[in-house]
Amino acid sequence: MSKNITILGSTGSIGVQSLDVAERSGFGVTAITAHSSVKTLEEQIRRFKPALAALADEAAAADLRVRAADTSTKILGGEEGVCECATAPGADTVVDAIVGLAGLRPALCAINAKKDLALANKEALVAGGHLVLDAVRENGVRLLPVDSEHSAIFQCLQASPPNKALKKLILTASGGPFFGKTKEQLQNVTAADALKHPTWDMGAKITIDSASMFNKGLELIEAHFLFGVAPENIDILVHRESIIHSMVEFDDNSVLAQLGVSDMRIPIQYALTYPERFPSPVRELDLSEVASLSFYKPDYETFDCLNICKEAIGKGGLYPAAVNSANEEANLLFRQGKIGFLELPKLIRTVFAVTPENKIYSLSDVYETDKAARAAVLANM
Ligand code: NAD
Ligand code: MG
Repeated sequence: MSKNITILGSTGSIGVQSLDVAERSGFGVTAITAHSSVKTLEEQIRRFKPALAALADEAAAADLRVRAADTSTKILGGEEGVCECATAPGADTVVDAIVGLAGLRPALCAINAKKDLALANKEALVAGGHLVLDAVRENGVRLLPVDSEHSAIFQCLQASPPNKALKKLILTASGGPFFGKTKEQLQNVTAADALKHPTWDMGAKITIDSASMFNKGLELIEAHFLFGVAPENIDILVHRESIIHSMVEFDDNSVLAQLGVSDMRIPIQYALTYPERFPSPVRELDLSEVASLSFYKPDYETFDCLNICKEAIGKGGLYPAAVNSANEEANLLFRQGKIGFLELPKLIRTVFAVTPENKIYSLSDVYETDKAARAAVLANM
């Protein structure tokens, strides 16, 4: 299989692992982008020799242009530059590994340029679900999940004709560093405590989302959009070992699961080689070493972020966008030590009162909602 890929967010956790998969698979790299990591992007330019590269931060892009002047890579800046990379000719698949709503517009640019989209950036799908799905349909491209749970479901669904007799999805969750803790015990936890994830090594934002379980709420909404399953038919199951990455249940109560060691290069590679499978960069799963797998019901009382996301997708329209943006703001405030852990759900909940009810929305509606949600969080802190 000869293939060229573009990686948006190439300096992050998923981005770096995507470059590793591309290199091992012999795929060409057409374009790479990041926010402002000049040094890492320069190293990646020298190693992968993309035709285009962009930094969303204009000043950082200007700096990179000087540092990489001796290379043949064209350096672009700003969100425009990131979008130009997303549409760069030659790439078959674009990996969207940008964190947050910032990945939505580039995702739409890639789809509209008829690229298959390997999506790690769940916030884009949560905030702009209908926009992304409509664009995918109109352009006849593939939307390939990178998130491990969604890759697991996607893999399990290969066993049945398109979603036939599909009864429910079972999203597994590690439970994060605060599994089993009471609200009282969570009163004074810090960002440093929350950043100690038991099974996955990820970027800071998603690691905090895993601690608050907002990540699993985002993933429920993501699964709803990706697989067309009603939110009430998506169960969440805490599974501490992160070996079963998710499951599907059919009408005959047969359950299929996808298992593997917790390494994102397995789902990244599957998104890039689908429908083929390549030899793995990751070791084999040794279940005798794992010995036992444990499962628990989530604690909805302590981790209110799960309820918030369920309520948001139940209301539909711009509500998922609103809670996503409120969480982005609150997550940052928590990382900066400006709010406590238990304030996260309280602040996010304030956006329910300021979100418009319309079911049909445009990209500019999503951005307006983003602004209003962030303002609501800041006004209530
Ligand atoms: P990260 O913080 O490690 O990397 C984010 C990347 O996005 C960086 O390259 C950064 O430069 C770029 N970026 C940040 N802000 C930007 C902006 N405004 N404009 C353009 N680029 C910007 O994050 P990550 O952990 O790699 O996560 C990326 C996405 O993948 C997130 O949506 C996350 O939820 C999802 N995801 C991550 C993992 C994981 O294991 N890390 C697993 C599943 C899903
Ligand atoms: Mg996940």
